[in-house]
Amino acid sequence: MNWARRKNALQEEAPKALVAVWECESVDCLGWMRKKFSLNENPKCPLCETKMKSGERMLST
Ligand SMILES: [Zn+2]
Repeated sequence: MNWARRKNALQEEAPKALVAVWECESVDCLGWMRKKFSLNENPKCPLCETKMKSGERMLST
């Protein structure tokens, strides 16, 4: 698949904070979820079922 690379659009209006997330380990997949919404210690990606790694993202809260 040929995913167009999107640059993160800077949205100045929304306040953002670093949020703990799970990120899909597959480089071809954009799957992620907020840790707050998952109680699973070893979650799988909802898109491709690859295991997920701990990470952080700047998200609007
Ligand atoms: Zn995935």
